[in-house]
Amino acid sequence: MIPYGRQEITQADIDAVVEVLHSDYLTQGPKIPQFEQAVAKKIGAEYAVAVNSATSALHIACLALGLSKDDWLWTTPITFVASANCGLYCGAKVDFVDIDPCTYNLCPMALEKKLEEAKGQGRLPKVVIPVHLCGQPCDMEAIYTLAQRYGFKVIEDASHAIGGRYQGEYIGNCRYSDITVFSFHPVKIITTAEGGIAVTNDAELAKKMALLRSHGITRDPAQMTNDVDGPWYYQQIDLGFNYRMTELQAALGISQLDRLDQYVDRRHELAGRYDLLLAELPLTLPWQHPDCYSARHLYVIRLKLDAVNKTHRSVFEVLRDRGVGVNLHYIPVHTQPYYQRLGFAHGDFPHSEQYYREAISLPLYQSLSHSDQDEVVEILKKALSE
Ligand SMILES: *Cc1c(COP(=O)(O)O)cnc(C)c1O
Repeated sequence: MIPYGRQEITQADIDAVVEVLHSDYLTQGPKIPQFEQAVAKKIGAEYAVAVNSATSALHIACLALGLSKDDWLWTTPITFVASANCGLYCGAKVDFVDIDPCTYNLCPMALEKKLEEAKGQGRLPKVVIPVHLCGQPCDMEAIYTLAQRYGFKVIEDASHAIGGRYQGEYIGNCRYSDITVFSFHPVKIITTAEGGIAVTNDAELAKKMALLRSHGITRDPAQMTNDVDGPWYYQQIDLGFNYRMTELQAALGISQLDRLDQYVDRRHELAGRYDLLLAELPLTLPWQHPDCYSARHLYVIRLKLDAVNKTHRSVFEVLRDRGVGVNLHYIPVHTQPYYQRLGFAHGDFPHSEQYYREAISLPLYQSLSHSDQDEVVEILKKALSE
């Protein structure tokens, strides 16, 4: 099976992890701050807080921004469920904004329209989470303008997008957001097995997230409510979690980060090859905004169903049956049974639902060979025509 995504592990990665195994610290040692500083420096943010997943990063980012009961969090339906669930973890209410049919990202015009309606009803969101789908950044400048006008905070879910650029700068510098979150799951651009990170330029938000990552416990006398009792002393000053990343993961992350640009460039090369090889087929290929250099996490094709004499499902099944591990990113979150129970219905976000009826993610990862890619294209051609 040619998977839709997979990690690449080099000898340097293995050596870095083995070195940690022989060291004094398996967790809470020097590799975590080293990894945090390396990521922050690479993408041009002031602070970074490494955690055990992007899901955890989204949760503590929402809490740090004060999201709580009776607040609203808005995101896109075309994302992994974690981008919406983080609002529910905080006791907040979740709503969605439909996608732009061209980029498949949260549509700033739909956002503006919904904000204007919400303003009249006194239910403006506290936090909006744009998701950089497939690694292509959202129209962050437009979203940030709306954030200032309507007074909401912005968390970029950049789980797909480390190494990508917006207006010539790395995604994650938070020029148009409060916090950006990256994932290091093995299918993403670089990996720490499980893992995630939240970056920000706001010292207070960074401090708050670092506290929430580890039980709300501090050893910093400046943060304590009274004098220290002795050298053993720590205080719990908030209700946090154990969302810590291990030293093994941080060492792997530091090693992988060295190859970030190389990986993104390779993904572009492969995506460019797909663009050429698939150009004549009845497909909509991924459109790229000129302001963006996508991280190219996913290569999503859409079937032109009126030009294909097949169903979406049958094309997908033929690909899977013949060893192409295609996937579908994503089932619109509002159509999940859990969200339907919260009151969402099919038909609520038509562009997202239309996308779902046509989309297929083809294999794309740094170590995908040209011959495997050619095989994917041949099998796809057959699946569309036979
Ligand atoms: C992968 C992913 C997440 C969750 O990442 P984990 O590190 O697995 O928790 C969140 N949002 C999006 C868009 C993702 O693709």
